[in-house]
Amino acid sequence: EPEMAGDFGRLMVWADAHRRMKVRANAETPDDCRTARGFGAEGVGLCRTEHMFFDAARITAVRRMILAEDGTARAAALAELLPEQRADFAAIFEIMAGLPVTIRLLDPPLHEFLPAHEADFDEVAAAVGISVQALRRRVSELHEFNPMLGHRGCRLGITYPEIYAMQARAIFEAAVDVAVRTGATVVPEVMVPLVATPRELEIIKAQIDGVAAEVFGETGRTLDYLVGTMIELPRAALRAGEIAAAAEFFSFGTNDLTQTALGISRDDAARFLQVYVEQGIYARDPFVSIDVEGVGELIALAAERGRAARPEIKLGICGEHGGDPLSIAFCETLGLDYVSCSPYRVPIARLAAAQAALRR
Ligand code: PEP
Ligand code: MG
Repeated sequence: EPEMAGDFGRLMVWADAHRRMKVRANAETPDDCRTARGFGAEGVGLCRTEHMFFDAARITAVRRMILAEDGTARAAALAELLPEQRADFAAIFEIMAGLPVTIRLLDPPLHEFLPAHEADFDEVAAAVGISVQALRRRVSELHEFNPMLGHRGCRLGITYPEIYAMQARAIFEAAVDVAVRTGATVVPEVMVPLVATPRELEIIKAQIDGVAAEVFGETGRTLDYLVGTMIELPRAALRAGEIAAAAEFFSFGTNDLTQTALGISRDDAARFLQVYVEQGIYARDPFVSIDVEGVGELIALAAERGRAARPEIKLGICGEHGGDPLSIAFCETLGLDYVSCSPYRVPIARLAAAQAALRR
C-alpha cells in the first residue's frame, strides 16, 4: 500500500485544504481499491464489471448464458454467477467502507466472451454442452461489424434483462451483507452505461429498484443507494434534462463521448492524431485532454440541462480524462462534484483539483 507520509503527504494535505471537487478512483479489484484508498481516493467512481465476467473460472457459465436460446436458460446460467458476483462486490464494499462505490452494469459486446477462432470451438462447445454446429451458428448470429456501436451497454440490459437483474441482486445482497456483518456504511451507486434515451434509463432503473426492494424485503434490511447513468453519447448529453428525471447522478464517460462526438475510434486514433495535433487541427490529443470546444460543450450542456431538471444531481467524470490536469481544470469550471481516475493518478488529481479551485 502506498505511504502518504513526509513531504509528499504534507503537499497532499495542503492540496486537500483547497480543492472543492472530490477525487475518486476507477477500480474493479480489491487490490485496486486498496491502492486507491492508500492514495486518498474518496470513493470508487467507476467499477467496471466486465473483467469479472472474463475470469477463467467463470467464463464457461458466462458463455452458457450468452449462448442460451431464451431468457429462462439465460437466467439459469446467470444463477451460477450470482454468488461469484456477490463476492466481488462485497470485497470492494468492505475495503471502501463509508465511501461511495459506483458499480457500472455490464457494458461490452457479448461476442467478446466467445471464441474468435474455429480452432477453439471443439473445446468451448464441449465445456458449454452444445454442439460445435450450434456454437458456430450462435457465434455468427452475434457477430457485429461495428461492435463499439452495437449490442453493448444498456442495450444488453434492455434485450437480456436477466443480466442486469443478476448484477443488481449481487450488488444489493453484497451491500446488505457487508453492512450487517461489519457495521460499516455501504453506499452503492448503480450506474447504467451507454444510455442514449430517457426511456432506456427508466426501464432499467425500474428493474434495479424492483430488485433492491426484493432484496430488502428478503433480508429485512434497507440501505440508501443511488441509480444514475453514464453520459457518454452525444444524444444523452442533449437529452440530459429528461434523462435526469430517472438519474440521481451523471458520470461523464469521456472516452466514449470523445469517440462518438468526434467520430474517431478510441482504439485506432493514434494512427493519425499525432499529425492532427502537429497541424493544429486539434489543440491536443482529445483522448488525453478534453476537447473543450466539442466534447466540453456537450458536457457543459448536459450539466446545465441535468441541473435544471434536478438541482441536486451529482455530477462526475470517469473517462481517462478524469486523471488529466487540464481536463480536471475544465471540470472545475463546470462545478462538477468529483473526478474519477486510475488509482495511481489520485494524488495528481488531488493536486490538479486544488490548483483548479485556486485558479477559479
Ligand atoms: C468512458 O467511455 O469514458 C468510460 C469510462 O467507459 P469505458 O472506458 O469503460 O467505455
Ligand atoms: Mg464507455
